[in-house]
Amino acid sequence: MAEKTQRLEIVTPERVVLSDEVRFLVAPGTEGELGILPEHAPLITTLDIGIMRVQKENRTYRVVVTGGFMEVRNNRVVVLASAAERAEEIDVERARAAKERAERRLASRDPEVDLVRAEAALKRALTRLKAAEQVH
Ligand code: ATP
Repeated sequence: MAEKTQRLEIVTPERVVLSDEVRFLVAPGTEGELGILPEHAPLITTLDIGIMRVQKENRTYRVVVTGGFMEVRNNRVVVLASAAERAEEIDVERARAAKERAERRLASRDPEVDLVRAEAALKRALTRLKAAEQVH
């Protein structure tokens, strides 16, 4: 018997990052991780900066989302994020540079530095590095 699937769309202002039929996904909700199976009840939630794990047939792939919204309805999951990349697309050198830049800003004690912004940039960079490490 064919496995039940659901549609997953991940969209940013720049592009459609993903549009796929998937079996299961785990999303980084701001209140904690959320597992979504096909035929899930309608839901709208905000997302944290984090890694979305997606199961399709026998494999799992990962997508970094940098916060945004997720809507689940009619067997369709739509993620609207300011930025998102599949783990394989991540430029590790760029993420390392972003991490170092954010760490320098946080350590500088410069009153001009926007700490919330630097912390968010650091979290994005660390999440990207983690997702890139998990690509086999
Ligand atoms: P940077 O300082 O390197 O730009 P950032 O966290 O400020 O990092 P974002 O604002 O989250 O970057 O993303 C801007 C765009 O660049 C998005 O399209 C995002 O997908 C892409 N992007 C950012 N970092 C990477 C990376 N390491 N690898 C691939 N794409 C990236």
